[in-house]
Parts: sequence; C-alpha cells; structure tokens
Amino acid sequence: MAELGREKKGKVFLVGAGPGDPELITRKAISLIASCDTLVFDHLANSEFRKHAHSECEQIDVGKSPGRHTVDQRQICKILVSKASEGKIVVRLKGGDPFVFGRCAEEMIALDEASIPYEIVPGVTAALACAAYAGIPLSHRDYGSSISFLTGHEDIEKESLRVNFAKFAEVGGTLCVYMGIGKISEITQKLLAGGLPSDKPAAIVSHGTLPRQKKLITTLGNLVKDVKEANLEAPAVIFVGNSISLATNQNWFENRPLFGKRIVVTRPEGQVSRLRNMLQKKGAEVLELPLIKIIPQEDRKLIAETFAGIATYEWVVFTSANGAREFFKIFFKAFSDIRSFGPMRVACVGEATAKVVRQFNLEVELIPKNSTAEDLAKELVATESLDSANVLVIVGNRNRDVLVGLLESVGHAIVDTLPIYQTDFADVIDSDDRLDFIENGADAVVFASSSAALSYVEQEEDLTIQDGAIKPIYCSMGPQTSKTLRENELSVKLESEDSTLESMVKALESFYNG
Ligand code: SAH
Repeated sequence: MAELGREKKGKVFLVGAGPGDPELITRKAISLIASCDTLVFDHLANSEFRKHAHSECEQIDVGKSPGRHTVDQRQICKILVSKASEGKIVVRLKGGDPFVFGRCAEEMIALDEASIPYEIVPGVTAALACAAYAGIPLSHRDYGSSISFLTGHEDIEKESLRVNFAKFAEVGGTLCVYMGIGKISEITQKLLAGGLPSDKPAAIVSHGTLPRQKKLITTLGNLVKDVKEANLEAPAVIFVGNSISLATNQNWFENRPLFGKRIVVTRPEGQVSRLRNMLQKKGAEVLELPLIKIIPQEDRKLIAETFAGIATYEWVVFTSANGAREFFKIFFKAFSDIRSFGPMRVACVGEATAKVVRQFNLEVELIPKNSTAEDLAKELVATESLDSANVLVIVGNRNRDVLVGLLESVGHAIVDTLPIYQTDFADVIDSDDRLDFIENGADAVVFASSSAALSYVEQEEDLTIQDGAIKPIYCSMGPQTSKTLRENELSVKLESEDSTLESMVKALESFYNG
C-alpha cells in the first residue's frame, strides 16, 4: 500500500554484450534487451544486438572511439539516472564485461547516489574471448600460474601509462593488456626494462571473435615491428607470457571456409536470418540489403471460392516458397484440419518451396530438375495427367503467365490461379548496412529471386560502391535469377545447384576454397 501514489521508479541493467561474436552474449542480456524501454549502447557492442529491441524501445548511442568522446561519462550517468527516474527499464549495454575497464563502477555509483535500483549482468571479456578464438592458452601448470588484466591507453588524450609495467614483468604469469596498441612500443620497452627477456612469447589479437579477427604470435622483442608490418589496429588485446608458446597452428576460428568474406544477403526482411546464421557459422560477415518485400494479398472472395471447390483440383502447383507459406497461412485460417486439403497432387518449382509444403506432412510429387516456370510446366505436362484436369496454381504477381499458358495450351488443363502475395521492390535506402556496403564493398551478393535482381538493377545508383572498395561477385540461386541478372548485364559468377540455402552456402564454400 505504501507504494500507492508514489512515482513508479525504473531500473537500470548494466549489461555486458561480450566481445563481438553475436553468439557470445548471454541469454539474460538478450532477454533484457528485448524487454527494455531504453537501450544505451556504445560502439564496441555488436550492432546486431540492437535488433532484439522492440520497435518502441528508445535507443541512445553514447559510443566512444579512441580520441573522440561523443558523450562524456558524466553525461552517460545522467542519461541513466534521468531515464530510470522517468520509470523506464534501462539497459546499459557495454562491450565485453561491464566491470573490466568498462567504467561500470562510475555508473553504479551514480545510480546509488540517485537511489536507483540496478542489476549487473556479466559478459565474456575481450582477453578471454580473444585468447579462446585465437587458440592462445592463458595458463598451464608448468608455464603460467597467474593471469593479469592490465590497461594501456589507446586514448590519445591520456598521455601517460598508469600501470607500472616493469612491476608486472616481475610478477610473470600471463599479462593481458587492453587498450594497449597505441602505446605498444612504450609498454614493450617497460616490460623489457623490468626484466622480461626479448624472446618472451607475446601475441596480439585484434577484432577478436569477429570476421575481421587477426592474430599474431611472436616474441616481446619483435612485437612492435611485427604489429606494424601486419598493420594491426584497435581494438586489440596484447598477450605476454610463457603459456602463449603453447598456441598451435590450429586456427580453428580463422580457418573456417568463409572466414572474413563479406557476403550480402538480399532476401526480404524476416527471411534473412537462416541464411545469415548459416553464413556466419562458416565465418562470413553478413550484410543485409533486403531488396524485395513480400506483401500478402488477400482477395477474400477469390480465396473463399477456391477453398469451396478445393476438393475438385487434381493438382496444386506452388511457384515459390513465399507463395507456399502464404497459402498455408490462409488455408489454416479457413480450415482447422489438414484433411480439408483433399487428395490433390502437389508440384513445386524447387526444393526450397517443397520444404515449406513438407512441413505439413504433405508429399510433394513433382519438382522439376531445373527450377524454372517452363521446366515445371513441361514436367507436369509429361505426367500426362493434365488433360481436362483442374489445376490450382498459387502465384505471386510475377512469373505466372508462362506457366499457366503452357499448362493450358500444351497440357489442356483447366487452370485456376490464386494470387496470394505480391513482391515489391524494397527501398534499399532504408537498410542499415547500405553505407557499409558502399564504403567497403563486399565479396559476394546473393540473389534468391529474379525480383531481387531487378530491384538491385533498379536501385543501382544507391548501391554504387566507392573506389577502392571490394567489388562483389554476383551469386544466383537458380537459372531464372541468373537469366535476369545476365539480361541486365550483371555477370553471374556462381549459381547454386538447386534453389536451397544449403546449396548456395555450399557453392560459396567451394568457390572460396578452390
Ligand atoms: N569491457 C570490455 C573492455 C573495454 S576496454 C571487455 O570486458 O572486454 C576496450 C578494450 O577492450 C579495447 O581497447 C581492446 O583492448 C579490448 N577489446 C574489446 N573488444 C575487443 C575485440 N573484439 N578484440 C580485441 N580487443 C577487444
């Protein structure tokens, strides 16, 4: 009762996002991001995490990069206090672990002073993540029995090193230096002056756990020279210690077949994630440029008529996975039992479409060898079951005429079409990754449909990459899409064997691995 009438108080969650790999964030962090009112983040946390926030979540970027303070620490504390005072649930997302050089203590104190409740969620800190992803052991019974986390300073505004590196040289064990790359020669000199031999094993990992990860294993004496030659940049962790000598050449992370390749996925929003996950698991960096959008189109009268006569069809033909998905959505709105589907035989244009249909335990009788409308029609005609048969064709707004024409004129079928979705060009200007694509380019662009290819051509001006950026190859998921690309003077370097995502990924893998 005492709560009644009092202003509702918010709460702040100080949350670690891990080092960058989107799979190295905790489940607790994801569920907090998904449910918070305000998300305060900085640039070290992978921007992908922000996609978990709900559409009304206010997102505030307080990112800092070396030498450039966008929002100072006091200001960040103020934001946290004021948002929570408005009754908001605030997530303050930080790279790695919030307590490891993350200035979480300052925020905690500010919240305490304002009597704002908070919780802290740990994250995988960069040193541990970099070591694991680079295969660098940090301890071993015979080689190192302490692990120290130290900070150098990449921040050019901070002149001097605060850590007494010479003292740490005496301690031995494994040293993990955060924010050290800008002061690497100074740090190295101090460690050598403190008594460490120049052949002491040393390593550095930059952009750890990300598709841009680079690692270098060397000695303390060669560290500065080697880092310069390899052109390693921040963020990076420097490791010094005997256990580093146990690192092998395994390179489990960097040896994945698509490691470091930038691949553009152009599927409609909402359908990107499976391909994205598959590519990321193989090591690729995925950019999303949705080029088409699927708009369900419900002609209620036509749907009612079709469903009333559904038992009279001998064949139903699905011309795309999107069509199949939309069809079953409305089918189950009309009927609660799959038996209402009747005994019709099912034909699908390709494996990906068939997969959707099989989810309902329906057998797909016909899939043409080549996933084109012509081949589908030809193989249906070859079954010699079309003469005067009722055939239902589920279509979008493209590509229907050829198929229906052939079924009617050559197969003598009685064809009803049920248009149930529309494919429209999506505005590429709206995609988050467009600027990254233009500035840095990509290794490959994957087109899953002719519509995506046409949309790309139509919006080419907004997609022209800058000089010096990586020029992508064009990959197609079927002969029809390849044809459209070629007709528009885009050369097709890769075509997947069938229209499935699996075969596209396989084609990319074998292309990049000879
Ligand atoms: N709270 C963070 C550290 C913040 S300080 C954590 O626990 O990881 C920022 C420093 O962390 C960077 O200068 C760099 O030394 C290190 N760092 C963060 N992410 C990194 C990454 N992906 N790869 C290598 N070093 C990283």
